[in-house]
Amino acid sequence: MIITMPDIRKRPCCICRHWFRPDPRIGVRQRACRKAECQAARRRQTQASWRKRNPDYFIARRIQERGALSQPPEPQRLPAPLSQLPWDIAQDQFGVQGADFIGVMGALLLQATQDQFRAYRLDSPEVAVTLPSPAKQDQIPLRPD
Ligand SMILES: [Zn+2]
Repeated sequence: MIITMPDIRKRPCCICRHWFRPDPRIGVRQRACRKAECQAARRRQTQASWRKRNPDYFIARRIQERGALSQPPEPQRLPAPLSQLPWDIAQDQFGVQGADFIGVMGALLLQATQDQFRAYRLDSPEVAVTLPSPAKQDQIPLRPD
């Protein structure tokens, strides 16, 4: 009788693309070869994808850390136009956590709007085409009167 071990077939490393034989104890879940730099790169990838899937975890942790300080911290720095708001007043009125939450919400909405605007511009080449470029305007011949 032949004992098959499908989990230890060679596979390409997801980082360096070299073929490797996974550790039988890890099996198909092993995506990167044993090289230290590939292991480190794979760990970074896993952490980055986890952060992407759990963005609220880091926001919550940051808000809670700032809220737990014995001295109220400086109001968080936010991108324009949110930077025009008096965040020190918000912090006095709503507390550090309240002001941080509002600030993060504003920044997220701003980011989402900018992302949508960028996607819209990329998806709609006709919009750009209908806009006259300065060079083209110069080339428009004057109508003889
Ligand atoms: Zn590798």
